[in-house]
Amino acid sequence: MTELIHAGSVWLVGAGPGDPDLLTRKAEKLIRAASIIFYDALVGPGVLDLIPQETKRVPVGKRSGRHSKDQRSINQMLVDAAKAGERVVRLKGGDPSIFGRVTEEMEELAAHDIPFQICPGITAASAAAAATNISLTLRGLARKLVFVTAHAKSDEQLDLDWESLAEPGATLAVYMGKSSAHIISQNLIAAGMARDTPVMLVENASLENERIFHSRIDLLPIAAKTALGDGPAIMLIGQSVARDKNKLSHRRLLRVTKA
Ligand code: SAH
Repeated sequence: MTELIHAGSVWLVGAGPGDPDLLTRKAEKLIRAASIIFYDALVGPGVLDLIPQETKRVPVGKRSGRHSKDQRSINQMLVDAAKAGERVVRLKGGDPSIFGRVTEEMEELAAHDIPFQICPGITAASAAAAATNISLTLRGLARKLVFVTAHAKSDEQLDLDWESLAEPGATLAVYMGKSSAHIISQNLIAAGMARDTPVMLVENASLENERIFHSRIDLLPIAAKTALGDGPAIMLIGQSVARDKNKLSHRRLLRVTKA
C-alpha cells in the first residue's frame, strides 16, 4: 500500500464542523498516518480524540478576540516540520477552502517546494442545514447559495456588496457574523431585503451542545445578542430556512401553477 502522507509533505485537512462522525474517511486516515498535527481551535474534541497517542499535536488555534499564533508563525511551523521530515497534517475546522486561510499556507509551502494536498471537509453551513432538516437551496425560491464572511479587522468597516446580498432568491450562509449582527441586519434591510426574511442561527452545529434559533432579519441583532453564547455560530438567511415548510411548499406550488 502506498503511504498516504510522505515524509516531508503536508496535508491540509478539513476536520468538519465538530462531530467526528462527520469527518471524511480520508481525513481520519490522514489523522492516523500523520507524525505531527497542527490544529485550529474549532476542531472538535471528538476529532482530536482520534489522534494517536504517539503523534505530536500542536494547537495553533484562532478564535476571534483570543490570543493565538499569528498566520505567519503557523506558516513557518508547517514549513519547519515538513523540512524536518515529518508527515504533517494541518487540521482546519469545516472545509479548509472556506474562510480557512489555506492560501497563505499553500503559498508558503510552495515557496519552499514542499508538496501539499487538500482533503475537503463538511462546512459549517451544511452541518447547520442538516441540524434542522432544511435544504440550503430551494427550487424557485433559493436558486443561489452565498457563503459570506462578516468578519472585519477591528479597524476596518465591513465592506460587503449589500445590494447583491439582499437580492431575493438566495440563501446566505454568514460565517463569523456574530459580532456584526446589527450591521448585517441594518445593511440588508437598507438594501431592500424584506424585514421578515427568515434567519436561522446555529451555534456549535453538529456538537452535543448544538443550539438552534429561528428569527427574522429585522430581529437578528436581538436574537444574536440574547441567544448566542461563546461557541461558533453561523447564520442562514433566506426563504429556505423558513420554519413553516407547509407555507413554503404552498407558495412553491402557486409558482408552478402560475408558470
Ligand atoms: N472552514 C470553516 C469556517 C472557518 S471560519 C468551515 O468550512 O466551516 C469560522 C466560522 O465558521 C465561525 O465563526 C462560525 O461562523 C463557523 N463555524 C465553524 N464551525 C461551526 C459550528 N460547529 N457551528 C456553527 N458555526 C460554525
